[in-house]
Amino acid sequence: MGYDADVIVIGGGPAGITAAIRARWVKRYKAVVCSTLIIENAALGGLAAWQGCHFTGPGWKIPRTDIESLLTGDLKDLHIPVHAGRVVRVATQGALKRVYTAGGKVFTSLAVIMATGIKVLTNEKSYYGKGLEITSMGYEYMVEHLRALLAKKWNPRLIVVGSPKLHNIIPLIRDLNRKPGGAGSDVLFVIEGGSANDAEPDIISGWVERYIGKDVVQGMILQMGTGQKEILCGGVLLDFNSYEMVPQTRVDLALGLPGNDFIPVDANMRTSVPGVLAAGDVTAGGYNSFSRAVSQGIAAGLSVYEDVFFMKFGQKPPLFAYRPSDFQLHADYQELPDIGDHMRPYALGKPDEILKALQPGNMNVIDYLNGQETVETIGQAMKIPLPSLKEKLLVLAEKKLITFHIEVS
Ligand SMILES: Cc1cc2nc3c(=O)[nH]c(=O)nc-3n(C[C@H](O)[C@H](O)[C@H](O)COP(=O)(O)OP(=O)(O)OC[C@H]3O[C@@H](n4cnc5c(N)ncnc54)[C@H](O)[C@@H]3O)c2cc1C
Repeated sequence: MGYDADVIVIGGGPAGITAAIRARWVKRYKAVVCSTLIIENAALGGLAAWQGCHFTGPGWKIPRTDIESLLTGDLKDLHIPVHAGRVVRVATQGALKRVYTAGGKVFTSLAVIMATGIKVLTNEKSYYGKGLEITSMGYEYMVEHLRALLAKKWNPRLIVVGSPKLHNIIPLIRDLNRKPGGAGSDVLFVIEGGSANDAEPDIISGWVERYIGKDVVQGMILQMGTGQKEILCGGVLLDFNSYEMVPQTRVDLALGLPGNDFIPVDANMRTSVPGVLAAGDVTAGGYNSFSRAVSQGIAAGLSVYEDVFFMKFGQKPPLFAYRPSDFQLHADYQELPDIGDHMRPYALGKPDEILKALQPGNMNVIDYLNGQETVETIGQAMKIPLPSLKEKLLVLAEKKLITFHIEVS
């Protein structure tokens, strides 16, 4: 049985993009890199693509636009595919991971990296600063912020969206809204990942499918138990803080890992489930930030490369520089193992790059690099002896233009 990609990365924020790039690139000469697929529900860049996110030191600043274009530029150059969709479930089937989307697609892979951040995003980014605000900057500031918001008359209402931890500020908001200085507007609380116990006249449980409005936010489409509902508003406060306490990714991890919660990982970003790694804000412990997301993404990408290499070749790859192997080097040392006759070459590079690398010679090899044909069947179809075909394929692999998928039962 074939599969779609060696590695599926769920979430296209800084952690997910970096992990996908690392596993696909590895940045060393002798490597058989991974095919990777990113699945993202909203815009690439995740929260780091929102206005207001910078990579900063006290005295320097890399603005969001630079971060975004650097991350997405590499994805494009490396020809890493991105599927637009929301992952709803991840399950194991034999040696494969199965990743289900809300749109009904099922993708299969040898490994999965959860890089889902603190929440599944929709189109918040388009309305951030245009009627959609977030809680941030400290608790004292938050009270000040709420006072200012509730002093305005909201028509038809203000909607406050958060995780189940939104309950921490609901009494305060109700109180400030009633007090002198509060405008007493209608306020509706929407709890993503809430339960039936949350239902009160001003509280509903549901998932925001998307925000709506011309130029400024004017409402949202909510997915509730009973179906979808359009709710209009004058403004939205996204209680960002609540998701930082309980992430809400809408993924059913049928793997024995927590679903809407932080995922425990070891120092190499591996979870307790073989073939499942996690990186970025969704991992347990630490301080959420761009730099942590990127460094964990790098670690997850390299670890998954090691894991996938082991699944393919039955041995660990040596990772010189990142983590040297402790052994006596011999003059005839060969870094890459033999390519088995049953391995399935799979194109990673752009067709023109592959054709250029094949010149001069058997240019039509390109027709077979689909992860379905084995080295043996390609050799038979092209009437090339296997050793010379393998030599050609290894040149492409070393240029990171192809990888080899394996047969999985
Ligand atoms: C306004 C703002 C300002 C910030 N400023 C800074 C700053 O100045 N410096 C700093 O270091 N950090 C800042 N941060 C935090 C920083 O942006 C995050 O820590 C970082 O983006 C985390 O990266 P990540 O990849 O782990 O998660 P995210 O960036 O959250 O990306 C996760 C991605 O996964 C996707 N996803 C989740 N669930 C699913 C699913 N089920 N299916 C498909 N896709 C899914 C989401 O849609 C999202 O795009 C800021 C954040 C915000 C919102």
